[in-house]
Amino acid sequence: MLLGDNRYVDTEQKLNILADSSKFDLACACKFKDEPGRMRGGEGRWIYPAALPDGRKVFLLKTLQSNVCVNDCSYCPFNQSRDLRRCTISPDDMAETFMKLYRANRVSGLFLSSGVHSNADQTMAGMLGTVELLRKRHQFKGFVHLKVIPGASAGAIEQAVRLATRVSVNIEAPNADRLEKLTSKKRFHQDIISAMRTISEVRGERGKAAKQTSQFVVGAAGETDKEIVLATDLLYEKFRLERVYFSAYQNFELSDGGLDKNLFAEMPTKSKRSADEIFVREHRLYQVDFLLRRYGFGRDDIYFDKNGRLSLENDPKMVWAKKHPEFFPVDPNRAERFELLRVPGIGPIGASRIIKARRVKKIQTPDELRQLGVRGKTAAGFLKLAGLKLF
Ligand code: SF4
Repeated sequence: MLLGDNRYVDTEQKLNILADSSKFDLACACKFKDEPGRMRGGEGRWIYPAALPDGRKVFLLKTLQSNVCVNDCSYCPFNQSRDLRRCTISPDDMAETFMKLYRANRVSGLFLSSGVHSNADQTMAGMLGTVELLRKRHQFKGFVHLKVIPGASAGAIEQAVRLATRVSVNIEAPNADRLEKLTSKKRFHQDIISAMRTISEVRGERGKAAKQTSQFVVGAAGETDKEIVLATDLLYEKFRLERVYFSAYQNFELSDGGLDKNLFAEMPTKSKRSADEIFVREHRLYQVDFLLRRYGFGRDDIYFDKNGRLSLENDPKMVWAKKHPEFFPVDPNRAERFELLRVPGIGPIGASRIIKARRVKKIQTPDELRQLGVRGKTAAGFLKLAGLKLF
């Protein structure tokens, strides 16, 4: 028994039921489907490794306060029409359980979401109650990611921003038309975008307050990559989001119900790609996200095919480089940082190291570049280096 105390057996059983509800809501990493970032920790069904934006790897208790839900999101195996065991954990039990795991050094933070068991504010009240207990009664000062329920009031959002380290409203789809294909209960502008705007405003007023993230479900609404990329760029621009995450729409294996083969029945034909392709697509979206946030790329630098899809074969930076032969070769001894960052194989760290190293000594050999963290084989065709053919 992970929690090691009879008092917690009921809560442990509830957590086991709720674990299925959160297992694909990763919001933490750019991973292919079999990589460790998608898997639970070995010590419990609710403990997950997660990469924080600063690169640290932490273990989070990741669960729902409740998997009772009145909503009908077609991509979600826990929508109102599904026949499965439902339960709710009280704020007291959730806070106590978390602190027990925290004191045992099994988790360092909490990722808390919930099904919508009544209206948005009543649902938020349960989650906020948990975090309030953690902060006040238990004096927990560590990481808490709190999902904000679409349609929550400004008061509930203000409290979430005050209590949590990070808050998020899942946008799910890139526009109102696409969201309409997924649910009849969530309104794109009134419930989701408005909550994001409120978070952004409250953060602005409070200065050092919780950071905001969001997440798309990829491939469930027949949306194109182009729609997701444009919406992502707008979210960064309008609401100063810290990160946007992408979660490939996939099949779910429910522990008490077996594999649900009908889950994808309503998927639009156009969006049906093989299971592997959907993960490559998710990976490409993460690559675009990095280009937008850290490489100085703009939305116009991202190329799509005539159907609005990113290339599955080449990463988006390589696609840009191949479309701009006039930009190359780049001289690593003279180029500006933004020029170095356009070279496939050179990332932000490699670019910084090149700029620092060349102040001391001209970079002349492939080995010198390799030592600076440049992916030599990829960069070779795009760099000019004292007449040498690289690698
Ligand atoms: S609101 Fe939608 S996504 Fe969230 S638990 Fe309910 S059905 Fe699932």
